[in-house]
Amino acid sequence: MIVAKRKPFEEIKEMLKGYKKVLTVGCGTCVAVCLAGGEKEVDVLNAELDMAMKLEGNPVDLGAATLERQCDREYLEALDETVKNYDAILSMACGAGIQFLAERYPEKPVFPAVDTTFIGVNQDVGWYEERCRSCSSCVLGFTGGVCPVTMCAKGLFNGPCGGTNKGKCEVSKDQPCAWQMIYERLKKQGRLDCILKIHPSPDWQNQTPRTVIQPGYKKTEGHAEEKKA
Ligand code: SF4
Ligand code: SF4
Repeated sequence: MIVAKRKPFEEIKEMLKGYKKVLTVGCGTCVAVCLAGGEKEVDVLNAELDMAMKLEGNPVDLGAATLERQCDREYLEALDETVKNYDAILSMACGAGIQFLAERYPEKPVFPAVDTTFIGVNQDVGWYEERCRSCSSCVLGFTGGVCPVTMCAKGLFNGPCGGTNKGKCEVSKDQPCAWQMIYERLKKQGRLDCILKIHPSPDWQNQTPRTVIQPGYKKTEGHAEEKKA
């Protein structure tokens, strides 16, 4: 899932300066699971904002709505009428959801209430760890399921740097060396030959926004262009 964390309260308050009617919009998917931007977090943030603005003698009319997903057009439609009643939108979705909301309502300022942080896993309640940087060239099949881009401090695709020391990373002693982990995992599986395969590193220069159209959905490609226009 995408993991995010709420922005510092003062930063959010500063962004909303001058707006009298603000709609806070949560998202019911990733950010709700990681306890950053779901329905409950929308209510908590609005309560804090309401109190702070009143104390400053600058009350704001705060609305609340939480969509199933902000990154999905079919759920955005439900907001069309509500949005007309507000001067600004405060989104608690990930960066993708925030941008989709801003695209749908270009006449309204849309502000982020969370910082999108990474694609990660849920280790425990409130504890999330990064596992993927969506590099588009997944090598997990050759690395025993350990991501060298995320888990190696230098994002090395083809074996360790010279700094690996007793299983630890030279960049941080608290972090196991990713390539040591890869070696151990592949050894356990009897697949150490995989470590000798050289993989071209992802084309880091090509950082334009990427699109994925799943096989079987190609016919909608033109349609997608229309939607973007
Ligand atoms: S190699 Fe790592 S960053 Fe790239 S897609 Fe696979 S898990 Fe994600
Ligand atoms: S010590 Fe290991 S994890 Fe750290 S940068 Fe070098 S190869 Fe990557």
